[in-house]
Amino acid sequence: MDGRKSVIGLLGKHIENSLSPFIHQHFIRYYSLNYCYHSFQINEDRLKKALLGAKALGIQGLNITIPFKEKAMEYMDLIDPSAKMIGAINTMARRDKKIYGYNTDWKGFIIPLVRERKIVLSQRKAVILGAGGAARAVIFALEKEGCTVISMINRNQQHALETKKNFEMHFSNCAIKIFSYNQKDIQRELNEADLLINTTPLGSWYVPNQSPLPKEIEFPSQVIVYDLIYYPDKTPLLKQAEIKGNQVINGREMLVYQAAESFYLWTGIQPEQEIIIHILKEMDKKR
Ligand code: NAP
Repeated sequence: MDGRKSVIGLLGKHIENSLSPFIHQHFIRYYSLNYCYHSFQINEDRLKKALLGAKALGIQGLNITIPFKEKAMEYMDLIDPSAKMIGAINTMARRDKKIYGYNTDWKGFIIPLVRERKIVLSQRKAVILGAGGAARAVIFALEKEGCTVISMINRNQQHALETKKNFEMHFSNCAIKIFSYNQKDIQRELNEADLLINTTPLGSWYVPNQSPLPKEIEFPSQVIVYDLIYYPDKTPLLKQAEIKGNQVINGREMLVYQAAESFYLWTGIQPEQEIIIHILKEMDKKR
């Protein structure tokens, strides 16, 4: 490592299986940049020191992941308006000795639907499982695309209510309804929906072999099932939906597109489709 190398990296608590280093190392090599990407695994009590330390050390940028996306906002000098509306950041970028907070998850989420699959979301209805940071990025993206009804199903109703209130302040053309995990309610909402999105960690490597929905749930044929989880690539929810013949999308494309947006914020280079497709193919080999 030479003295002119720029340092970027990942800050999180459960990052052992994160694919972010893999993605960014591909971008760095593809564009022959003098950058290195490090993983920084910390506990909650180190967050403030880690971010202020990163600022003092001149670290160029960080991806910020679970469970720090909300708390990290407190230590930024400035926050991008979209991230402020979402209430979470997943990217820190250094500019003129200041650290800025951004959210690139919402773009990462929407590109695989709208740009890659040409799905029109205007006047559509979505069902979202979960009400956390990822759910807020998803709601922001869906509302921007003109979705008119979002049914949010969450374990903690208070958490769901806070998320709903946050968005009602900003968008008035989309109704957000809240439900608990009641099979009847879920089935009714799903019957009228175009999109089902899982933003809970159920089925991921750290809550393995679980589906957020009971196996009795029917998936109406028009519903596209999008699971934000990227490891494993086929969660129990996606397997349930695929058996019924529904179109499914996992979280891998979202992960690569949100990473591409972060990379752009750090380097000014918007990764081309060629390297994005190459990374997605390489990820498939890692199943
Ligand atoms: P978060 O802020 O902690 O929110 C997690 C949500 O899941 C909450 O609504 C929580 O419900 C719910 N939940 C957690 N455990 C549950 C359980 N056992 N049963 C039912 N509900 C449960 O996390 P996040 O940042 O939103 O991330 C959520 C997931 O999205 C993670 O798996 C993450 O890897 C994935 N993600 C993927 C990408 C990508 O690029 N593909 C990007 C961002 C996030 P309560 O409110 O009841 O606690």
